[in-house]
Amino acid sequence: MDVTGSAATLRAACDAARAHGHTVGFVPTMGAIHRGHARLLRQARHECGFVVASIFVNPLQFGATEDLAAYPRPIERDTAEAERLGCDLLFVPDEKEMYPNGPHTITVDPGPLGDCLEGASRPEHFRGVLTVVAKLFGMVGPSRAYFGEKDAQQLALVRRMAAELNLPVTVVPVPTVREPDGLALSSRNAYLSPDERQAAPVLFEALSDAAERVREGERDADVLRAEMARRIGAEPLARLDYVAIVDDETWEDVKRVERPARALAAARVGPARLIDNLLLPWDGGE
Ligand code: AMP
Repeated sequence: MDVTGSAATLRAACDAARAHGHTVGFVPTMGAIHRGHARLLRQARHECGFVVASIFVNPLQFGATEDLAAYPRPIERDTAEAERLGCDLLFVPDEKEMYPNGPHTITVDPGPLGDCLEGASRPEHFRGVLTVVAKLFGMVGPSRAYFGEKDAQQLALVRRMAAELNLPVTVVPVPTVREPDGLALSSRNAYLSPDERQAAPVLFEALSDAAERVREGERDADVLRAEMARRIGAEPLARLDYVAIVDDETWEDVKRVERPARALAAARVGPARLIDNLLLPWDGGE
């Protein structure tokens, strides 16, 4: 595996791979690689001739009071892990390489979906995400780019960006990887104390409970939302941020679960802000 911090070297390597007839697959990350990232990389390896991963903790997507400085950066372990997972080229730019002229004047506007849910709690977050993803797409030129369903709103926005800006890339969704007790893997789980770690699966439990209620016939989304909020609110170590049930295509709040809908939850557990989501079962599919 080659490692570079240079966008020019990255572009040359991707051009060469394409010239050899390889499909270029791309897995953007912020590092602290875990089994969630590994699933993305494995799928890319399976489907593409040339696999590029990036590690960049993008300051543009962090709010002033967020954990940019504290975000884990175990670069040596990450490099070994990316190599073990079959990555061909690891791109590890510094801030100067990504933003040589300082703050951008041109950014990607996420539109209304960027302002709700995660966007309401983290203003400007998705503008930062889409701007860096657009830049990385420009540098790598991937045919396929892999994003986790764990960050469902991010995945939806990247898909919309690719579609609406006619970017020649297929955005590939990858299912969420979880701990045995249901907690979705996240680099931020490292912030949890043992007690907080025990409390953290409450998000998944609330989402799973909503799915179970739908399976048993409940269709009223307000009932499901209230029950999810009650469940998370009952955990003393969790501070609820939001619960939501949205149409899986439009991302609008639904009244009744009668077509594919997604339940989402966000809460602060100790120093960590955790998010999770689950596609609800519906008549005509699971
Ligand atoms: P991050 O490093 O947190 O920016 O994540 C990089 C990519 O990995 C994103 O597409 C995430 O959605 C994805 N990802 C993070 N955690 C998981 C997980 N538990 N399961 C599947 N994908 C994940």
